[in-house]
Amino acid sequence: MNPLKQRIVLLGPPASGKGTQADRLAQEFVTPHVSTGALLRSECERGTPLGREADAWTCKGLLVPDELAVRIVATWMQENGPRFLFDGFPRTVEQAKHLDTALAAIEAPLDLVILLQISDEAIRQRILNRLSCLKCGATFSTSLHGIAEGQACSRCGAPLVRRKDDSAEALEQRLKVYRELTLPVVAYYERTSPAILHRIDAGMGSDAIFAQLSTLLTTL
Ligand SMILES: [Zn+2]
Repeated sequence: MNPLKQRIVLLGPPASGKGTQADRLAQEFVTPHVSTGALLRSECERGTPLGREADAWTCKGLLVPDELAVRIVATWMQENGPRFLFDGFPRTVEQAKHLDTALAAIEAPLDLVILLQISDEAIRQRILNRLSCLKCGATFSTSLHGIAEGQACSRCGAPLVRRKDDSAEALEQRLKVYRELTLPVVAYYERTSPAILHRIDAGMGSDAIFAQLSTLLTTL
């Protein structure tokens, strides 16, 4: 299916289901799903100069600097064209400004900015109840699926574990970073391009969220 919207930014806190939704949208609409995390990993694996630069930051558990994140995305756009679904970018107002400038230069502005909204309390419940399969990437909820750590993944059979960054402490840190860096990005779009900013309640089920996103992508 051909979406009417070609340049999309998906924003949301941890556990808002952003990555999963982006994957589904990319499949349904054949829009390249660009996660800066995945781009970084790919640059690192290929051992490119950009990758080595990024590695120096991510090794220390730090976010890469704005300027580097922007360069990595710009390189991707040069190779792939201005058609994308960004997930995890822009993460800061500075990155959002850079993206706007880059897109203005090729007269291809953003079509859509979507914020997946969910309360901190709901995020805590989701993350702290989450078990992951490190082999196939599936995630399960101890409360929804009635499973415990160490049980076998129903998809591939590997044992389920609690990821390190799903601890209460790590989560609070991720929420803090989100509030300090990314919420201002929402305010930035509110100020500069309110007509393309949409909010979706990410507390709904995954299918309901996907339906709303699909509508946004396919209507003017
Ligand atoms: Zn698995």
